[in-house]
Amino acid sequence: MWTAEERRAHLCKASRSRWGDRTPADRFWAKVDRSGGDDACWPWTGARLPHGYGAVRIAGVTRLTHRLVWEFAHGAPPAGVIRHRCDNTSCCNPAHLAEGSQADNLKDCREKDRHARGERQGHAKLTAAQVVEIRARRSNGERCVALAREFGVGHGHISKVCSGFNWKHLGGPSCLC
Ligand SMILES: [Zn+2]
Repeated sequence: MWTAEERRAHLCKASRSRWGDRTPADRFWAKVDRSGGDDACWPWTGARLPHGYGAVRIAGVTRLTHRLVWEFAHGAPPAGVIRHRCDNTSCCNPAHLAEGSQADNLKDCREKDRHARGERQGHAKLTAAQVVEIRARRSNGERCVALAREFGVGHGHISKVCSGFNWKHLGGPSCLC
């Protein structure tokens, strides 16, 4: 795993060669619709994953836009799950994001009735949003064991999620652990 500093240095180098003086942040914000003003939702206008999550490839890796916004705003990647307080999964307004635990996320999903097919089976350990997040983070090189610990499930469960054995209908980047 790279440190945040190494990753930033790498991103800057990669972006300079392809994008002149534009930083990854410049490129990122160019695809965010901020026309509604400070309090409005700022929808991501680029590519989206299932369930509306914005995704962008930087230096060859797929990143979830709401996690990048958090990183830009706080100078470091989030340690836990990032929730949209506005329930608009493509929103990039940092004021609408909150860091939460897996329990918060499950509670949100139950309250807002955003359950997808997998969650309706009644015994699902993860939410659809978490599956999308896990696949993107795993494809960015995060380790299965670390993800398993963070999301409170077994290593085998993460492996099945990432390979597409579980939650096939969600799509997103998949890989073999
Ligand atoms: Zn919003």
